[in-house]
Amino acid sequence: MGEQHAGPGFTRLDPWYNVYADRALGMKQSEVRQLFAVANRPEVVSLAGGMPNISGLPLDFLAEMTARLIRNNGAKMLQYGGGQGTEELREMIVEVMRPEGIRAHPDDINITTGSQQALDLVSQIFINPGDVVIAEAPSYVGALGTFRAYQAHVVHVEMDANGLIPEQLEETIKDLEAVGKPIKFLYTIPNFHNPAGVSQSEERRRRIAEICDKHHVLIVEDNPYGLLGFDGDPIPAIQTFNPDGVVYLGSFSKTFAPGFRVGWALAPAALSARLTLAAENAILCPTTFGQLAIAEYLRTYDWYQQVKEYRGMYAERGQAMQAALEKYMPMCTWNKPRGGFYTWVKLPGGLNAHEMLPRAVKNLVAYVSGTAFFADGQGSDHMRLSFCYPTPERITEGVRRLGEVISQENDL
Ligand code: PMP
Repeated sequence: MGEQHAGPGFTRLDPWYNVYADRALGMKQSEVRQLFAVANRPEVVSLAGGMPNISGLPLDFLAEMTARLIRNNGAKMLQYGGGQGTEELREMIVEVMRPEGIRAHPDDINITTGSQQALDLVSQIFINPGDVVIAEAPSYVGALGTFRAYQAHVVHVEMDANGLIPEQLEETIKDLEAVGKPIKFLYTIPNFHNPAGVSQSEERRRRIAEICDKHHVLIVEDNPYGLLGFDGDPIPAIQTFNPDGVVYLGSFSKTFAPGFRVGWALAPAALSARLTLAAENAILCPTTFGQLAIAEYLRTYDWYQQVKEYRGMYAERGQAMQAALEKYMPMCTWNKPRGGFYTWVKLPGGLNAHEMLPRAVKNLVAYVSGTAFFADGQGSDHMRLSFCYPTPERITEGVRRLGEVISQENDL
C-alpha cells in the first residue's frame, strides 16, 4: 500500500509503517473526531458532535443505585460474565424493543459494547476484503469507518423524505448481481437517520424487507434513535417484517447514557451464536458492571418516562434549530426531522462544506461536512447540524454565526 494512506495523524516516519496489515492502512480518523479539539472550545458553538444531552439524568438516584449494587451484588458485578451478556438484561431488552413491534426471545440477543461493537462484529463475520455492503447515501460515519477497516466496498443508495428508496435499492442489487458481486448486507438506519434526519415509512420498511428477502440480502437495521421521536408512536422495525433476514442493533446510549457502553444485537439464532463467538474473541465478555447497572435502572426507575423527557428536550432543540435556519439561513435548504439529533442542510450553489469549515470555526461555530458521510468523497454540498447538545439559545446563536459565514462565502 502506498503513500496515499499516510493520512492525518499517520506518518511514514513510523518504524512499523511497512509492517501494518492492509486494513490498518485503510483506517483514517473520522472528520467528526478530527473536529473534537476545536469544536469543544467553550467559545465555539458546536453543531458538530452527536453527544446526547444527559444533563436531565437522575444522578443522585444512579449514585445510590450503583453503590447499593456494589455492596449487595459486588461479587457478580465486578466479575467476568458470559460472552452473550446476562440473561436478566437480555430479558429486559425484549421489553425495551416491544414498542417497535418486536417479539424477540432473549436467547437471540447479544449484549455488545455499544451498537458500535455490534457493527464491528457483524462486519468481522461477513466481510471479506472487496465485498459489497450497501448503505444509504449518506450514512453513519462510524459504520463507514468500520466497513472501511474490513476493506468492504460500500455502494450507496439514494434516500428521499421517506428514507431509503426501495426501487433504487432493488435496481442496485440487480446491477451488482448482474456483475457477480456478492452483497454481504444492507446497512440501514430506519429512524431519524444519522446524518439525514429522515425516517422510513412503514410501507417502505415492508418493501425493503421483501426486496432483501427476495434477493437473499441480509439487513443490518441500526436503530439507536427509534424511541426518540418528537411525537407519535414508534414505527414497527424492519425486523418485524422478516425476523429471519434482519440483524437489529439497539443501544442504551441515546435513551439512557452512552458512558455505560451497552448496546445489543438481535439476530437469527445461528448468527447470534456466531456473534457470541466473535465477541468472546474480541472482549471475553461485555461489561458486567454496566449490564447490572442498566438492568437495575430498567427495573427500578421509570425509564420510559426518562425517554419521554429526552423526547421533549430534543423536540425543543429541534424546533429552535428550525426557527434559526428559517431566520438566518434562508439561502440553504434542509429537512424537518421528526425526532433524533440531526438536520441535513444543503448549501447554495457551489459552496463546499469541507472547505468552508475552517472559516466557520474562525467565526466560532462548528458542523460536520457532508463528505464525512459518504465512502467516496461525495457530500461537499451538504453539512450535518446536530441539535442534541447545545441549549436552544446556543443553537440559535450557532446558526446565526453559520448564516454569516455562508453569506460571506456567497459574496466571494
Ligand atoms: N449507529 C448510529 C446511527 C449512531 O448514530 C451511533 C452513535 N452516534 C451508533 C450507532 C453507535 O452508538 P453506541 O455505540 O454508543 O451504541
